[in-house]
Amino acid sequence: MRVLILGGTTEASELARLVAGDRRFEATLSLAGRTSSPRSQPIATRIGGFGGVEGLARHLAEHAIGAVIDATHPYAAQISANAVAACARSGVPLVSIVRPAWMALPGDVWQSVPSTGAAVEALAGTPRRVFLSLGRQELHLFAAAPQHRYLARLIESPEQAGLPPDLVLLRRRGPFDRVAELGLLQDEKIDVMVSKNAGGTATYAKIEAARALGLPVIMIARPDKPAGLVVTSAAEAVARLAHDAAPRSLRGV
Ligand code: NAP
Repeated sequence: MRVLILGGTTEASELARLVAGDRRFEATLSLAGRTSSPRSQPIATRIGGFGGVEGLARHLAEHAIGAVIDATHPYAAQISANAVAACARSGVPLVSIVRPAWMALPGDVWQSVPSTGAAVEALAGTPRRVFLSLGRQELHLFAAAPQHRYLARLIESPEQAGLPPDLVLLRRRGPFDRVAELGLLQDEKIDVMVSKNAGGTATYAKIEAARALGLPVIMIARPDKPAGLVVTSAAEAVARLAHDAAPRSLRGV
């Protein structure tokens, strides 16, 4: 069965590892192309947008795709909406890996805001040292609160103009460990963190470090993200695929 994996996440890389060499599947990983040097993958990879719902539906037909796995990031809502619409239109099953969100634990000092713009508004007031753990596309929004000193950790440097005046960039790719995160927050004398509720373990250490230091976290809420059949891990997605790929007689139908 030909499988299209919509990726750009840890789960998508894990899926690629799980299906590589599995003769039941011929899988391709699709990346949006946001990073210029993505991690190398053990399966075929295509890079770049499809051209909306139309383009994705055309791709599914042209490549005789038998199933799509949406393993995109919890904040990548557009591609998921496109996947739901294109799969419905094409009659192709869609499995969506939905990474459970982090839940506030005792000691966490979270302020939940609905968007990155609202996070900027929440930073109003006296100058602070702010740790930004967000995509590079959103950094320019913080220029509206120029009184702060920002430390932004990114995989790649931002390209757009209009960034906040007092901004230090830290180019790093996760996962990160708790001791290093504690050290970073302390060395940089961070007063407040702005984060997405990414879920998972790869970037959770910063949340643990903030908790240990009693540091406030402005947590940007997840967007509504349409989904197909929901699973919570790459292994579960493969089990679902294996079920769909099995001959009908083995499935009891
Ligand atoms: P988005 O807003 O949901 O999607 C915008 C457009 O990018 C889509 O309409 C699609 O273009 C294209 N696209 C997105 N994911 C794609 C994929 N896997 N393969 C091919 N095209 C894709 O997405 P985003 O928030 O910009 O995220 C882009 C990528 O970065 C995703 O793969 C996501 O998993 C990853 N990522 C995002 C975040 C985040 O915070 N948003 C964090 C970590 C990783 P067309 O309409 O032309 O098909």
